[in-house]
Amino acid sequence: MTATSPLTSHSVLHGVPVVAGVQYAPVIRPGTLPDVDAEPTDELPEDERSAEGERFTAAAAAVAGRLRERAAHATGAASEVLAATATLATDRGWLGAAEKRIKDGAPAVRAVNGAIDQFVEMFTKLGGLMAERVTDLRDIRDRVIAELKGLPEPGVPLPDEPSILCAEDLAPADTAGLDPTLVVALATTLGGPTSHTAIIARQLGIPCVVAVAGLDDVPAGTMVLVDGTRGTVTVAPDEAPAREAVAEAKRIAEAAANWSGPGTTADGHAVAVLANVQDGAAARSARQTPAEGVGLFRTELCFLNTDTEPTVEEQASIYAEVLEAFAGNKVVVRTLDAGSDKPLKFAGHPDEANPALGVRGIRIATNNPGLLDHQLEAIAQAAERTGNPPWVMAPMIATAEEAKNFADKARAYGLTPGVMIEVPAAALLADRILDHVDFLSIGTNDLAQYTMAADRMSAELATLTDPWQPAVLALVAMTVKAGAAVGKPVGVCGEAAADPLLACVLTGFGVTSLSAAAAAVQGVGAKLAMVTLQQCRDAAEAVLGTASAAEARAAALAVLG
Ligand code: PEP
Ligand code: MG
Repeated sequence: MTATSPLTSHSVLHGVPVVAGVQYAPVIRPGTLPDVDAEPTDELPEDERSAEGERFTAAAAAVAGRLRERAAHATGAASEVLAATATLATDRGWLGAAEKRIKDGAPAVRAVNGAIDQFVEMFTKLGGLMAERVTDLRDIRDRVIAELKGLPEPGVPLPDEPSILCAEDLAPADTAGLDPTLVVALATTLGGPTSHTAIIARQLGIPCVVAVAGLDDVPAGTMVLVDGTRGTVTVAPDEAPAREAVAEAKRIAEAAANWSGPGTTADGHAVAVLANVQDGAAARSARQTPAEGVGLFRTELCFLNTDTEPTVEEQASIYAEVLEAFAGNKVVVRTLDAGSDKPLKFAGHPDEANPALGVRGIRIATNNPGLLDHQLEAIAQAAERTGNPPWVMAPMIATAEEAKNFADKARAYGLTPGVMIEVPAAALLADRILDHVDFLSIGTNDLAQYTMAADRMSAELATLTDPWQPAVLALVAMTVKAGAAVGKPVGVCGEAAADPLLACVLTGFGVTSLSAAAAAVQGVGAKLAMVTLQQCRDAAEAVLGTASAAEARAAALAVLG
């Protein structure tokens, strides 16, 4: 860390969470790589080129042999990764390119560097999975160069205490050999969720965050807290709370992994725990969790890259995939929530100064009623085809009249109508909206945005858009009460439902279902199973008396532990 670095103790760096869990330990970093730029640039005399070629062939073969050896002694994904790297080390493409460079006069180290650079450029251009293999190529380059120069193989130092391995990216051969009792978490500056780092972290079951901005400035030896659930790396946090966070995460992870549903409190009060999905693939993967159904199918996400309105048949097959994945279970399909942060090319959005307050969600149907009609027709077709009739709900409802118009249309297609409550006006008049619809689903993401007049996309305003804001919770409580008064279901499908503690508070308000990202389902279900309905009700009452999000959290914690 330099004197001018913005990094300080407690800095929280953000990345992409890959494997859940929390660890607190010192940073270790892989050894530095041979500096190729310091190599002489002189051409080899012709009579030395053939020997240099042989030296190169022997070095590459030695590296491949060692990788194969390690593959034979490893198991599972680690073995496969090592074997794949060994194969890449013997790939004729890059070997031939290096040999040609040596024949043309390049010394072996420069030839290896140039040939691998050539392939790195090609893989990067191809993008996707090929681009993620670039780290494998660079790893082979470094190993072969170290071999040529008689240096020890580059890689991860063997730590003498549990440590957190931080790197720009990790070579597969390094990660494959890791001992999870010594390397307890991984964080990288580069890499995606399908990179080898991620694959191996999953196999080892150690927390992992990738694409962490600013991680390169954290030097070896610094104590960090890696949170693979939130996707954060906290630099030099206070020790006691950091250790408590690790212990708590461990307890929670054990309980969550063992939770198999259905959703109930410890004393048997049922609350359906559902998953939010965006297409058939997500629904099939959510089906692998104990989720009892789909509480929010965000249909607009199927069409973000579609230029023209999909036909009814095209839409029906997409919706049918989700209904099939959850055959016999509840599925709530939301009609297109186009606009604002999710514009659809075919929705004909007007140019607006403030799209979050503009023609989005159900408001699009006013000027373009065909869009909603076609979608309802497609949902009805999918229902018939799969024998799994879903509930349908409209986003961004602000008035009882909008709710009535939507409900009339949906019923005309034989569908069960509900609406989302994500505009404060709708929460305030939930009782009047319920005169027209069969259920409500509270979208806490937008409800927080509109209640607090704070853009949900703004990192700066994240404290205001926190769903724990008591003003937001008061509107949620009011909506749930209106549903209970007429015996109609009221669920929550915003991010609030993914927070196990808040899920208990929502249960205390009386929600009938909680729908969250599939990855959050077990955590929510497990926490719910640890508390009684009375505790949830006490926590719900306590948060309503608070004046800030932090106070609300603390009040709930005091009751729910
Ligand atoms: C919400 O607003 O809480 C919600 C679930 O909808 P989305 O996040 O898709 O806007
Ligand atoms: Mg919303």
